[in-house]
Amino acid sequence: MARLQIQAVSKKFDTDYAVREVSLDIADGEFMVLLGPSGCGKSTLLRMIAGLEEPSEGRILVGGTDVTDAAPQRRDLAMVFQSYALYPHLSVAKNIGFPLRARRRPRAEIAERVAEVSATLELSALLDRRPVALSGGQRQRVALARAMVRDPGAFLMDEPLSNLDAKLRSATRAELIALHQRLGATFLYVTHDQVEAMTMASRIALLNEGRVEQCGTPAELYDQPRSTFVAGFLGAPPMNLFPAVVTAAEGALRVTADGVDAALAITDDLDAATPVIAGIRPERLRIDPAANDVRGTVRMVENLGSEELVHLDAGATSLCVRAARPAGVAAGENITLRVDHADIHLFDPDTGLRLT
Ligand code: ATP
Repeated sequence: MARLQIQAVSKKFDTDYAVREVSLDIADGEFMVLLGPSGCGKSTLLRMIAGLEEPSEGRILVGGTDVTDAAPQRRDLAMVFQSYALYPHLSVAKNIGFPLRARRRPRAEIAERVAEVSATLELSALLDRRPVALSGGQRQRVALARAMVRDPGAFLMDEPLSNLDAKLRSATRAELIALHQRLGATFLYVTHDQVEAMTMASRIALLNEGRVEQCGTPAELYDQPRSTFVAGFLGAPPMNLFPAVVTAAEGALRVTADGVDAALAITDDLDAATPVIAGIRPERLRIDPAANDVRGTVRMVENLGSEELVHLDAGATSLCVRAARPAGVAAGENITLRVDHADIHLFDPDTGLRLT
């Protein structure tokens, strides 16, 4: 088991920083997900922790020991790649036992560990097969078994589910959650898939252009996004974000935009006439003929099976409403929406940072 400490780590390739001053303290046994769009520096950060890439600045500690300059095999970490990197000419058993053979462990010990790990991952019946005769999900489990066989302090995983189809990915997600609970080991997991991050992480570090934009539990990032970037990244469809102004009416604050005029929670931090970016999640907008927080015209209705996405033009403000099916509205119809003041997020239009 190992605590991972990343202290002000940066990585510069030529003139550009791929990772900038990232600091993360990952507790022993935590499931930390590095999330972010393509090119934000997730893989580079993971590779520096694994020892496959050298930081330009900063320090990396595993279990309290500074490993910044240590070779990968001296870090007590196991890495699982997207491609699985199995040896095609070796059987499943030999693939799994490889890290122990490389360390010249006794044959009996290797056989025992391979049997144990294979039982844990339900691979016992497949030990004689070659990787080519396995499904994607089975290959993924062999790669995991090979990482587990040494009993490392922490597992580093780089998009290990991205080669699986949607159904298998969701099943393997559940397996990984169970495995993490059973092993109690530290997991550091890279993905650009917000569903993986939301369902598996004990904490998410959301990266943007090499920096940590926000680090917290999935609920913290979803419910209290620190910035418009976080608000727009998590949630499908994402949070509605639109320019608005804070106004005062009869001693209470409201948020107004084209087609929007809704009460805000009482707050001492805001003045009337403050320009803002307002944010409302699609599932927090409710179609209600008796309401007048939002008024608009339905542009299009998307049927998702269990739900419908109602796209609305409220003046110049475009909004998406997520409603149970049937929403009972059609394109061209004028409708009104209700929104609770607790569900309105406000951000600074210049910095994108959360205001309240
Ligand atoms: P993806 O999800 O697409 O894999 P990522 O978030 O993992 O992206 P990285 O692979 O860490 O992103 O890349 C971060 C930035 O660093 C990118 O702009 C990339 O082009 C750059 N980069 C990565 N490796 C190198 C390298 N060896 N030399 C130069 N630039 C690199």
